Amino acid sequence: MAPAESRAGAPAGAGPAGVEAAVAEVVTLCSELIAIDTTNPGDPTAAGTERAAAEYVAGRLTEAGYEVTYLESGAPGRGNVIARLPGADPSRGALLVHGHLDVVPADPAEWSVHPFSGEVRDGYVWGRGAVDMKDMVAMTLAVARALRRDGVVPPRDLIFAFVADEEAGGFHGARWLVDHRPDLFADASEAISEVGGFSVTFGDGVRAYLVETAQKGAMWLRLKVTGTAGHGSMLHTDNPVAGLAAAVARLEAHRFPLVLTDPVREFLHGVGELTGVPFDEDDPEAAVARLGNLSRLIGATLRDTANVTMFQAGHAANVVPSVAHATVDGRMLPGRSAAFEAELARVLGPDVELDWDTLPPVETTFDGALVDAMTAAISAEDPGARLLPYMLPAATDAKSFRRLGIRNFGFAPLKLPPDLDFTALFHGVDERVPVEALRFGTRVLYRLLTGC
Ligand SMILES: [Zn+2]
Repeated sequence: MAPAESRAGAPAGAGPAGVEAAVAEVVTLCSELIAIDTTNPGDPTAAGTERAAAEYVAGRLTEAGYEVTYLESGAPGRGNVIARLPGADPSRGALLVHGHLDVVPADPAEWSVHPFSGEVRDGYVWGRGAVDMKDMVAMTLAVARALRRDGVVPPRDLIFAFVADEEAGGFHGARWLVDHRPDLFADASEAISEVGGFSVTFGDGVRAYLVETAQKGAMWLRLKVTGTAGHGSMLHTDNPVAGLAAAVARLEAHRFPLVLTDPVREFLHGVGELTGVPFDEDDPEAAVARLGNLSRLIGATLRDTANVTMFQAGHAANVVPSVAHATVDGRMLPGRSAAFEAELARVLGPDVELDWDTLPPVETTFDGALVDAMTAAISAEDPGARLLPYMLPAATDAKSFRRLGIRNFGFAPLKLPPDLDFTALFHGVDERVPVEALRFGTRVLYRLLTGC
């Protein structure tokens, strides 16, 4: 029997029955979402693939009693779905829970199972998107459905957004929504989404859950060197191919300064406390080296990076061309944008012409009622575990929502086996998510959304 009135924290219908219904269907939802091939074409002018997944999500939400808003950017097939569950206290800012529906490409020839099968085997759900991020989409959908079906009134408004095109910059998803429909998120003060909330196990079995509180900025640079075209048999002093190659080699050899930012400092001190090996602030690289598989991720947050990713020049074996181009993927720490730009220009030299697209770093603090609610939700399901903030070296849709003043946290909770190299699964071959991790994450998310 449901009580006559609901209040925040003990809503009508909330409880074991509600959460168990969500837990019972999350694996099926994840598997079915993976089986809808939503490979992002990469080219923003190409037709999209998200519509079928967006219609699937919209159908599941409608079935549970939601009114949904379905939006496409104007490019065909780029579906976005937004729904809202009113909370007990409208004066509090809404919590936005967002997830992207698109995935990066996968070549079936390289995989143990077909990447768009959604097969459940050996305790895992397999397929492209299993961790990035149809896992969180499925958990969100399962919890949202249970809450609405049971008439649960959460403490504050919840906005659920399932969006297109994250993998190619959000031009038809989060970025487009923020530019064209900011009204949908006007009252949102905080958001949770991908690349955080997963567990890592240190030494003798002590577990921490990483919460993303910051992201490096991105700067995609186009490099151009011009020279004098001519016959390949003659003497040349300004060959643009050689000039650009030399500049790129200088950049490759260059190391940007080590800068210990607050989230990285807080993370490494937390790891020190958990492992009993205190963090020495004078030697962050030694601390990162002890992190095992996680060192690839955390190591990239100690300094700016710039990796050459494309090089185009020339058209014939006996012709020195007049121009050479390269592309560099630059990533800068919060507070380093201007310094990074100046340092790049200095290293590359005056002969390299530069232009670029940039996404700024984002950062928030690891505190407040929402962080307390995350801690409570994890502690209830995994007693003794600890939450640690960290910085993501990559970019997500959080950067777009930040433009509306929304604080972003990477929190897609998963309790993972200690030996799983989780970060390698992102965009990797044989991407898969443990069934038990999905069920665990659904319980945590249910607690968080009814206790935030
Ligand atoms: Zn993602």
